[in-house]
Amino acid sequence: MKVYKIAVLPGDGIGPEVMNEALKVLKTLSDMDSTFDYEITEFNWNTDYYMEHGLMMPENGLKQLKSFDSILFGAAGDSRVSEHIPIWELIMPIRKNFQQYINFRPIKLLRGLETPLQQKEDIDFVIIRENAEGEYSTSGGKMYQGESRELAVQNTIMTREGISKVATYAFQYARDHKLRKVTNATKSNAIIHTMTLWDSVVEEVANDFKEISYEKYYVDAIAALFVERPKDLQLVLASNLFGDILSDLGSAIAGGLGVAPSANINPNGEYPSMFEPVHGSAPDIAGKGIANPVAQIWSLALMLQNFGRSDLHDKVLFSIEDVLEEKRTLTPDIGGKATTEQVGDAIVRKLQKRM
Ligand code: ATP
Ligand code: MG
Repeated sequence: MKVYKIAVLPGDGIGPEVMNEALKVLKTLSDMDSTFDYEITEFNWNTDYYMEHGLMMPENGLKQLKSFDSILFGAAGDSRVSEHIPIWELIMPIRKNFQQYINFRPIKLLRGLETPLQQKEDIDFVIIRENAEGEYSTSGGKMYQGESRELAVQNTIMTREGISKVATYAFQYARDHKLRKVTNATKSNAIIHTMTLWDSVVEEVANDFKEISYEKYYVDAIAALFVERPKDLQLVLASNLFGDILSDLGSAIAGGLGVAPSANINPNGEYPSMFEPVHGSAPDIAGKGIANPVAQIWSLALMLQNFGRSDLHDKVLFSIEDVLEEKRTLTPDIGGKATTEQVGDAIVRKLQKRM
């Protein structure tokens, strides 16, 4: 039997608090399912580590991580270091070197959760975002022409290969999960070089998946759709920048940061993928024991799905929903009075019943 090797990076702030609860869930799964086993190695690469060593991870950090089946990440960063340090020294090197060119975000209003939208329609779709190139490039610069005249240029880099890979992943995901439609978030009417290439490559890929319908929307119109008719969406395919913005809007309509999971995926499995809650280290509530562990536990469920264990993914997600629906054990961000630990324990109890 395969023993999954998981690298655990709890990080800072509420990261370690919510990670604790996710690890309880993981242990419950292997205790109760004889066909599932794992081994974890914890890495203390966080702000304390940075203060001591001047780096977020050791020089050979990526080499240490490479042999794992996956990485479970909490949240990194606190007020002692500038915000870009954990991003550029830890998260981005992992994403880039491990070619995690897919960012996967389910936008699903779980049973028992509230949405700020008026219509309590079904909200259940996914965002697949290009995660390795596009608008977030370091190419460009500031050109100074004297004090009052400044000019800055920021280049977007899109390649046929990069677009084709994310589009193929999206359509294949739709096929595997029996989704009927892929919606392309574009802006090729105004961004005439990169987004037209994006559209044409996405359309070519769409032609290879005839049974899945394809539609193209401008990203501003999609933002409106998220609010007005989210039930029309099944899978939104977006570039790095557009996907980033839409994902935050998505989490806002589906219960907020405390319950929003994400995955950074290397689809061919050559390198480990990384699973992490959308939220950061939330210094304002760190140490109080009231962080919502659902985002971290759902991220763990996405990891199980990525291992090919959709059965375990579903059990974890249903157990989370059982707790949310009961409304007895909720953290303050979603209207309750329970602690992080109480919510984690309640999810474990529901899971034990479902195994
Ligand atoms: P970072 O820069 O690390 O992303 P941030 O300042 O943007 O941090 P987040 O950690 O993303 O803040 O969270 C924003 C706010 O949302 C927090 O201050 C916190 O109040 C709330 N929040 C985030 N995650 C959770 C959670 N798991 N449970 C409860 N509240 C949360
Ligand atoms: Mg943040």
